[in-house]
Parts: sequence; structure tokens; C-alpha cells
Amino acid sequence: MGIANLFQPNQQVASIADMSLDKLKELGIHGILLDLDNTLVKWNSQSLSNQVIKWVRMAKKEGFALCIVSNAISFRLQRVAQRLHVPFVSQACKPLTLGINKALKLLKLEPSEVVMIGDQLFTDILAGSWNGMHTIWVRPPKLYEQKWMRLVRHLETFIYAREV
Ligand SMILES: [Mg+2]
Repeated sequence: MGIANLFQPNQQVASIADMSLDKLKELGIHGILLDLDNTLVKWNSQSLSNQVIKWVRMAKKEGFALCIVSNAISFRLQRVAQRLHVPFVSQACKPLTLGINKALKLLKLEPSEVVMIGDQLFTDILAGSWNGMHTIWVRPPKLYEQKWMRLVRHLETFIYAREV
């Protein structure tokens, strides 16, 4: 696998609520690692949409083990995790393996049984593929982003356009 392939998600969705749990099951996936900002909630927010809450509830009911893995340290992360009743790993240092490994231990799962879901190719998707996980890219809404994030988006588009 080439380096550039590490930035290529296996799937893309507009929102995690659009993701088919049946499809994940077919892939032999039992665990779902979720990014926080622009994945579970809008950037710098802690309000969860009804669709996301419903989807998380359904995923748990279907037997998936969930964990939020975020680079944030914030109280916000804790609030969201408590609200959804899922464990979380903060200061995950994605794309490094630190937080991902913590989450795998917590869920007692192997990377091949886990999907990493997030909105950033350079952290979430890279961390997932580097660890041999299935990866799903949530293409984020344009609003609610900081200026530096827009630059990251340009770089993502550049890499993505080159490789597809
Ligand atoms: Mg994010």
C-alpha cells in the first residue's frame, strides 16, 4: 500500500446517520470509533442532533461497541460521551496510534473488526488506515469551521482528487 492510500477512506457519508449498520456487519465490523467535531457534533458544539442520537442508540442495540476518540481535552467531549452513554478517549493524538490503541483495548477488539469514522483525512482517516481499520470519511458541512480548517480542507481535496 502506498503512502497516499493511507489518506483514502473506504467509504464516504454526508452524516454518520446515513451510515448503514448492516453494511458494517457484512464487513465483519463489531466496533465503531467516532471522532467528535464535525462527526458527532458540529465544530465546537456539544448539541447532538436527533438523527445522531437515534443512530448511536440503534448501533448499540445492534451489538456494536462504540468509543469516541478525540484529540480534544475538553469538558465538551465528556458531556457528549455521557449523553450518548459511550466511552471516550481524549487527547488521542490522532493520527498517532496512542489513543486508537487505548480505544481498542477498551473495546477489546482487533483493528480489523473496527471502523474509524471522522471528518479529517490527515488525522481520522490516516489514523484508521495506518492501524489497519476500515475507514469512513464524514464530509463535513462548510459552516462552523475555523480559517485554518479551510486550508486543511483544500489540502484534503487536493490529495483526494489526485488519488481517486
Ligand atoms: Mg473532527
